[in-house]
Amino acid sequence: MMAERRVAIIGCGQLAQMMAQEGRSLGITFSFVALGEESTVCVQDLGEVVRVGDSPDAGSLYRELGCPEVITTEREDVPPGLLRALQEFCPVYPQADAVEKTQHRLREKLALLESGVPVAPFLPAENYHDVCAAIGYLGYPAFIKACESGYDGKNQWRVDSVAQLEQLRDELAPGSYVVEKGVPFSREVSIVGVRSASGETRSYPLTENRHENGTLLVSRAPAADGNGELETAQRYLATLLDDWDYVGVLTMECFVTRSGILVNELAPRVHNSGHWTLAGAPVSQFANHLRAILGMPLGDTTCAQPAAMVNMLGVDTIPRTPNEGVWLYGKRRRPGRKLGHVIMLDESTESLDRRVEEVLAELYTSDTPERSANA
Ligand code: AMP
Repeated sequence: MMAERRVAIIGCGQLAQMMAQEGRSLGITFSFVALGEESTVCVQDLGEVVRVGDSPDAGSLYRELGCPEVITTEREDVPPGLLRALQEFCPVYPQADAVEKTQHRLREKLALLESGVPVAPFLPAENYHDVCAAIGYLGYPAFIKACESGYDGKNQWRVDSVAQLEQLRDELAPGSYVVEKGVPFSREVSIVGVRSASGETRSYPLTENRHENGTLLVSRAPAADGNGELETAQRYLATLLDDWDYVGVLTMECFVTRSGILVNELAPRVHNSGHWTLAGAPVSQFANHLRAILGMPLGDTTCAQPAAMVNMLGVDTIPRTPNEGVWLYGKRRRPGRKLGHVIMLDESTESLDRRVEEVLAELYTSDTPERSANA
């Protein structure tokens, strides 16, 4: 009889849900850590949930989780101290060092540059005065981003003029920021890569992403690869995975510019832009993450035909348009909240694009709550 394989996931959102659903066919059982007040509705019936406060005792937590073989996370904001404390009991992947680097925009950029991966020109800033000086050097448009607690366009400001900058005089509290030059990109793409504990590395095809108000709306794979962007992105990602001795899925979001690829940010976890792999690749990002952290051989990451994913933001009605699948996360409806996604596959990119527009039109009618309100 095969021994039970137990994985504990820190976080109880839709990423944990899909990881657990995909892990069942690998014979894995799950337990979950709920941090603070976070909702556990997504992982209901998928395994034991242990809710923890500010500074849990790692030994008791490990035991309450059923002494898992490995612990992983679906969240970026998990305290690195907790990951380090749990590491005393079993492997924790991705490692605390990697998670910590990606939690702070300045540290992340410096780590990227250290591995020879290019980013948009930037300067650090600690107050409004520094921001003005940085923009004086970098020019308009510029993006001011808080180093911490920024995701989906939150805690960041695009500034196109002196007048707009002046409006931020009272809003920008002293703190840690990076000021980035606005990059004239032609497309936004991402790449999901995975490295196993044995050092085996694979990546999915480049995915093209369409954001609206800083939130992902549509992903399409494989992205057009006009100037060898895929090869470049794969090389950058493989370098990072090896330099960081990383284990699990790592996602890299990039801008495609006339002079090549610039990396915008990293996510040390499975990613919304990789959800299409649930139907569009032989082995999904969730299954490959589990394979990697459990030291299993990695699965096929190819994409046999064009695939697209449309996020259901604030809407949970299943569209009538024929599609390959709808994933609903079981969350309560709230304007802009990620409630589910639709995946479509097609033989041709053109007809896939048409179907994406049809699904968007069906999901987001004029009386749909604002899809940018996001949560
Ligand atoms: P982020 O929170 O860094 O992912 O940024 C959210 C969105 O803002 C990105 O997906 C881009 O559309 C835009 N953005 C962020 N930084 C820049 C930049 N330096 N140049 C141009 N657009 C940017």
